[in-house]
Amino acid sequence: MAEDRTPTRTPRALVAAALGLVALGFWDLGAEPSALAKEHASKAVFEYGCRVQGPQRFLERRSFLDHGTLDLRKQSNAVRYLAERYGNVDSEGTSRWNSKSAMSQAKGVRFMGLPLSVHAKIAPALACVEKRIIKTCTGGSRYTPRAVGGFRSANTYRGAEVSNHLFGIAMDIDPDKNPCCGCVDPWPSNPICKNAGPVYKRTALPKCWIKAFERSGFDWLGHDTLEDTMHFEFLGDPDKITK
Ligand SMILES: [Zn+2]
Repeated sequence: MAEDRTPTRTPRALVAAALGLVALGFWDLGAEPSALAKEHASKAVFEYGCRVQGPQRFLERRSFLDHGTLDLRKQSNAVRYLAERYGNVDSEGTSRWNSKSAMSQAKGVRFMGLPLSVHAKIAPALACVEKRIIKTCTGGSRYTPRAVGGFRSANTYRGAEVSNHLFGIAMDIDPDKNPCCGCVDPWPSNPICKNAGPVYKRTALPKCWIKAFERSGFDWLGHDTLEDTMHFEFLGDPDKITK
């Protein structure tokens, strides 16, 4: 396709190119959150019972990873923010910031009819995403999830990274159809990862679904170098979801 400007998929070059596009403001994913931020700054807009808010930039994984290297100061800032608001994740550092555990605030909810466990604080945001999807993602944007996952008790990242599943603010949808093409094996062996072009070609999720999450404060890791297209995480302000 004409939009496929990166025939060779060298990760480092790809990241550098992506960062360049972000800096120039030519990147679609950069445009959306800043538009939302402007909307947010002028006056609070509520839709489907939730404030329209984008993910907070400093909490996005790609904001504290520079060319694949973790910026520990930035990452620690983000983890501290999450621990203070959602609870500790059973590690020495996060327990210092909050004596209550995130897991103790887990709530069983349903998303498109499927049961999952998330942090009680973000449950209203997820309910709004569902309402928006039902109302707006019709016709060719219909999608029926079969498997969803939320809270997790074991870290899935290696090294110093902390998975937001530990805080209960992340959820995965159908890993078999929405793979993590930038992750370690076996994920990239999924045939859909061979599709060239924008990341939307390497996921079964309709763009309408992704936008519905993004309008309620969720970040989609399809935008990350990991291209973890099954994964959404709430990075908005949890104290401003319904007010
Ligand atoms: Zn995930």
